[in-house]
Amino acid sequence: MNVQNDALVSIIAPCYNEEAVLHHFMNEIDPILTANSHPFELIFINDGSNDHTLEKLLELKNKYDYIRVINLSRNFGKEAAMTAGIDMAKGEALIPIDVDLQDPPHLIKEFIEKWHEGFDVVLAKRVDRSSDTKAKRKSAELFYKFHNSISHVKIPNNVGDYRLMSRKVITAIQSLPENQRFMKGVFAWVGFNTTTVEYVRDPRKAGETSFNGWKLWNFAVEGITSFSTVPLRVWLYVGFVIAFIALIFGAWIILKTLIFGVDAPGYASMTTIVLFLGGIQLMGIGILGEYIGRLYMEAKRRPVYIIDEEY
Ligand code: UDP
Ligand code: MG
Repeated sequence: MNVQNDALVSIIAPCYNEEAVLHHFMNEIDPILTANSHPFELIFINDGSNDHTLEKLLELKNKYDYIRVINLSRNFGKEAAMTAGIDMAKGEALIPIDVDLQDPPHLIKEFIEKWHEGFDVVLAKRVDRSSDTKAKRKSAELFYKFHNSISHVKIPNNVGDYRLMSRKVITAIQSLPENQRFMKGVFAWVGFNTTTVEYVRDPRKAGETSFNGWKLWNFAVEGITSFSTVPLRVWLYVGFVIAFIALIFGAWIILKTLIFGVDAPGYASMTTIVLFLGGIQLMGIGILGEYIGRLYMEAKRRPVYIIDEEY
């Protein structure tokens, strides 16, 4: 399909407590957007910030007429905020972007070029993550490895939400009814003709990251449980293996008793085995819990986000 030169491009920027960085963001992105031949809209989603982000956004909206501001009723999290933006966008191409300038706006030009070449998805791949801490890089790498080894949907490594998606892709994404959205997985799940452009990820311009330790861990659990049932099914095999070992061990004990008679000691090995199995069982139940919890939340059929007002 040919891309029309007057096709609208929607940029989607979720914001949570970003008052410090919004002006930098506009100064950087405005020349890039206006130099572009496509008409565009820039949609800010205020994700329940408790600083002056909304006021700042409304100020910016007065200054730049292509800005739209969507105010959510509270903080729903980045995935939900992005979903709100995707639902509100009218463009033929959509580009989610972080406002902290870790996603360099100059890539938008390359995104659009690739889109004209016929790609429906253009991913921005980080070639250098030295701006992230070593622990974050290592844990991200482990997560992708683990996720991709047990899930049919492979999430490309070192690719974030920053990308271009054509209307076709957006329509497909909107057809997914789940309301717990792990967007990286959702994006990968829909597929389509994909290419990548590379960039170096800068450190955050101002403000602070809202993703730390526990939140990232939960995000990873969400990602894995949304796109794989392997953690549920693995217990069948763990059970098999343990039962098999127990059988052999049992046979050996019976044999030993028959040949050498009863010998009472064995307290240490018994305790170890009981504790070990107890631990394994609790883990299994815990994982069941993760999935049942998600089923429960999903069964409520609550909306992903609630819009307070659109400006
Ligand atoms: N964000 C959001 N809601 C949240 C947390 C973050 O909309 O609950 C936005 C945030 O304003 C930023 C983007 O998501 O535009 C990425 O957040 P951040 O820079 O904190 O994450 P990191 O780059 O450290 O992964
Ligand atoms: Mg960031």
